[in-house]
Amino acid sequence: MGIYTMTERVVLHMDMDAFFASVEQRDNPELKDKPIAVIGSNERTVVVTSSYEARGLGVKTGMNKFEAKRICPHLIFVQANHEKYTRACQKIVKILYTFSPDLEVYSIDESFLDITGVIHLFGEPLTIGRKIKDAIKENLQLSCSVGIAPNKLLAKLASSHHKPDGLFQIKENEAQALLKDLAVEELWGIGRRTKEVLNSIGIFTCAQLAGADTLLLKARFGTWGESLKNMARGKDDSSVMPYGYEPKARSIGHSMTLPYDIRNQEEVLKYILELSDLVARRMRRENFSCNTVAVIFRYNDFQTFSHQKKLAYATDDTRRIYLHAAAIVKKTFLTKPIRLLGVSVSGLIKAQGESFLFEEDRRLTNLNKALDLVNERFGGAAVTFASLVNHKEYDKVISPSWRPSGTKKY
Ligand SMILES: [Mg+2]
Repeated sequence: MGIYTMTERVVLHMDMDAFFASVEQRDNPELKDKPIAVIGSNERTVVVTSSYEARGLGVKTGMNKFEAKRICPHLIFVQANHEKYTRACQKIVKILYTFSPDLEVYSIDESFLDITGVIHLFGEPLTIGRKIKDAIKENLQLSCSVGIAPNKLLAKLASSHHKPDGLFQIKENEAQALLKDLAVEELWGIGRRTKEVLNSIGIFTCAQLAGADTLLLKARFGTWGESLKNMARGKDDSSVMPYGYEPKARSIGHSMTLPYDIRNQEEVLKYILELSDLVARRMRRENFSCNTVAVIFRYNDFQTFSHQKKLAYATDDTRRIYLHAAAIVKKTFLTKPIRLLGVSVSGLIKAQGESFLFEEDRRLTNLNKALDLVNERFGGAAVTFASLVNHKEYDKVISPSWRPSGTKKY
């Protein structure tokens, strides 16, 4: 099969169709062919996924229960069962592994597979795609969509364009024509915020973005401006990152859905302190320091974004992490009420015993150790910062950025 040379990559993207909802319909015959919505367990929960029957009637991910019920009165709510989905995900991963070891589990229901090196074993890319779909159908009674292309960006586009139960290949020489009239927000990685900025400077289609002035894009987006242009031309050289070979920079993070939406910066900072403390404690327990702090924001309309800050030197101190996270918050112009906040640290390095560069560091470490000890002994947050005392309990929900353990976070 000489058509595919080693320099021409072939990447496959597998995306389960309405994953959670399909698992529920599979396991409960009464839900078959019915509009169902999978929801979380807390009071403020929203539609996590819905069946295609529900989607056809206007139900969308992110709607609250009342909205969804108003649009679709016969909608059946099913509470999410994450263990079940994780088990299904593990089975799918096993199947994908039998085709190629170059597997990146991107999320609980999406994976990338570099099949460049296995075409001589299993046949043409579309044949491989078909075999994967059949194996998943046979073993799990679930359907998925498969996209095949020379890179991840286009493979993702290919799978999304023929959903559900799709199988579609975009070849290198077809990309240009396909992208030409495509709206920029259809590209993987261009969110609502980026779309809005692009639209505001008269860029709506990929062709317009591909032809845009690089300096103008750089002025708006910094170094990312150039990447955006490449994306619009269907270029993407990011590699499929196999399970277990992710960059060492794993992260530790905590997020929480707030008991009510907040706008007030002072209130935001209270939660940021609490989250910084949770993160720093876990980091110390695992004997790590970090050199990057990020804050994750989610507005009440579910628009989610994060900003991060690289530190001058590594730390595991609650107060330092808080100060950096707070600086991020103060620099971020919040346009809508906040529904969820998160703090995450990355660039983790193993703490180096007891050698301290500064006397202050030594004292901080001892203070933190003492606080951790007391908290461990008495459970929860016995000793905590004064501003946290009047805090109500909050819900912890599984976040959309959740990954099966061992896979990429954020
Ligand atoms: Mg999916």
